[in-house]
Amino acid sequence: MKALGYIAYEGASKIDGRPIVVIVNKLQGSANAKTGADLVQTFIIRADVAPTDALKTGDDVSICGQCAHRPLLAKSNGAAPCYVNVGRSVRSVYEAYKRGRYTKATPAQLRRILAGRKIRLGTYGDPAAAPVAMWQEITADAAGVVGYSHQWQAVHFDHAAWAPLVMASADTIDEAAQANLYGMRVFRVSVGVDRQPGEATCPASAEGGRRATCDTCMLCGGTSKAARDIVIADHAVGHKSRVIMLQAAV
Ligand code: SF4
Repeated sequence: MKALGYIAYEGASKIDGRPIVVIVNKLQGSANAKTGADLVQTFIIRADVAPTDALKTGDDVSICGQCAHRPLLAKSNGAAPCYVNVGRSVRSVYEAYKRGRYTKATPAQLRRILAGRKIRLGTYGDPAAAPVAMWQEITADAAGVVGYSHQWQAVHFDHAAWAPLVMASADTIDEAAQANLYGMRVFRVSVGVDRQPGEATCPASAEGGRRATCDTCMLCGGTSKAARDIVIADHAVGHKSRVIMLQAAV
């Protein structure tokens, strides 16, 4: 049976030490409307818990840390729930992993396999749950990367190592300014449309006119791209009520 993709990392989460796996797949392209067909995808999931269960038990902390958008946390903190459809794509990746449909590859092998390709770091899960050295090697000859991390405020986060690989995910203007001080480019999710100086609107967004997909844009490549920070308006479930709450607060 033909392998569906590769296992790039199997080991302890850099967030909490629990078992995780990094799967590289969609090397033949994907049908994602926002990211486009040309991005190789990577999934960071618990190796021992179905992702749909991990959402409910909180075991997804191993792959998402304290990200406010984890469904369990978003219920109580009012943040937008994570947009990833875990019940469909992520669950099927986990089940294929359990059926042995992915081949283990070393970082050196993946570097060759991914040479000249555009890669999404963390289609699901935070790239920083896995070792930065692994990502550095497998992307070394890639045509480009796009990725996001919410872990940039964690105590031991290596900003210099991660800055060329991922955008710092920010939910407020203050967070964005703080991430810039750490030397990171920022991807900010705004409540309502409020682009700030130094930011560009994501061209794949509704407010950006949906004139690009990630594989044609590739602006979210951290400091490997000399470009402005990116902002996108929250369109997740419940966004209208969050806009109303914000307006009421000012
Ligand atoms: S700015 Fe470009 S790379 Fe970033 S999310 Fe939008 S379309 Fe994708």
